[in-house]
Amino acid sequence: MEKPSIYGLTLDQLTTWFLEHGEKKFRAAQVWDWLYVKRVGTFSEMTNIAKKSIQLLEDNFVLHTMEETTIAQVSADQTIKYLFRLRDGNLIETVLMRHEYGLSVCVTTQVGCNIGCTFCASGLLKKNRDLSSGEIVEQIMNVQRHLDQEGKGERVGHIVVMGIGEPFDNFDNLVNFLYIINSQKGLAIGARHITVSTSGLVPKIYQFADVDMQINLAISLHAPNNELRSRIMKINRAYPIEKLMEAVHFYLKKTNRRITFEYILLKSVNDHKKEALELAKLLASIRHLAYVNLIPYNPVHEHDQYQRSDKETVAAFLETLKKNGINAGIRREFGTDIDAACGQLRSKQIKKAKARSAK
Ligand code: SAH
Ligand code: SF4
Repeated sequence: MEKPSIYGLTLDQLTTWFLEHGEKKFRAAQVWDWLYVKRVGTFSEMTNIAKKSIQLLEDNFVLHTMEETTIAQVSADQTIKYLFRLRDGNLIETVLMRHEYGLSVCVTTQVGCNIGCTFCASGLLKKNRDLSSGEIVEQIMNVQRHLDQEGKGERVGHIVVMGIGEPFDNFDNLVNFLYIINSQKGLAIGARHITVSTSGLVPKIYQFADVDMQINLAISLHAPNNELRSRIMKINRAYPIEKLMEAVHFYLKKTNRRITFEYILLKSVNDHKKEALELAKLLASIRHLAYVNLIPYNPVHEHDQYQRSDKETVAAFLETLKKNGINAGIRREFGTDIDAACGQLRSKQIKKAKARSAK
């Protein structure tokens, strides 16, 4: 069996592992510091650790389970898109974005996605497998090491779980990943600086309410009624809006944390005043804890039934929400010149590879 990534263990899990292998408890904290604070690229660089212990680590874990392909792209706004090749040959993507408030990384949680939303490039490719916690953490480590090499002292301070995949369809690995990056002794990325986006897997929203970290939750709503939502998101047939809103109410009551509702504006599909009013009504009773993020649609070649709404329509939609007491804003776009939309670079590369092998 292939050795697992050491980045997949929480500090507690690593401590238990060391104790089980006849090592002292403090060893885990030392290794953890080398991994996340000094950020070495090999076990042998952990110079205050005895040779015997280094050997033990090398025999059981690896630090790299993926390689960066040569196609990391930098956009005009300095967004960087990385394409990584996993050990099994699968490709995933990770995006680094620069905001006024700091750097954020968008991570992938699955190879492909089974939810199959009709507007999304990731859904075009069925899920091949879940990523392990280690593979999700490693994406951040790779980006952070790049920044370290540039020597400007830049640090990834925010994480959005909005890359390829449905994070709640890989729940246990997701939660483990969140504990690892949130750990004070490790990367120490504050829970309030982490956002997880779900298409609305209702049972998992209940479970997420029990996770003892103040992580932000974003729900991809995209339509205010079942007829429309079921048309653009198949998942609505399994978990219709009433069930979703019940889970939302439960979550808000339990956590008192704000929820972001994502709403992609698709031209002449869900962008009329009628839908804006319906959305305002749907969220009226929870408006003190709801924020609507209007997302300009990134056109996907294969889904040419959808176009992006024009600027005036977007502005009018926002205005209607605000007039009706809903907090809302328009998401800033990153890296549109490099296909930074969810899953686009990856599906392009796969198509290119398929075209090559067909020749
Ligand atoms: N599966 C999760 C998280 C990944 S998708 C989810 O669906 O929430 C992250 C966000 O990007 C979602 O809100 C999704 O609807 C949106 N998205 C997908 N394709 C897009 C596109 N082509 N343009 C703009 N946003 C897109
Ligand atoms: Fe999957 Fe999210 Fe894309 Fe829907 S929008 S297909 S849930 S990645």
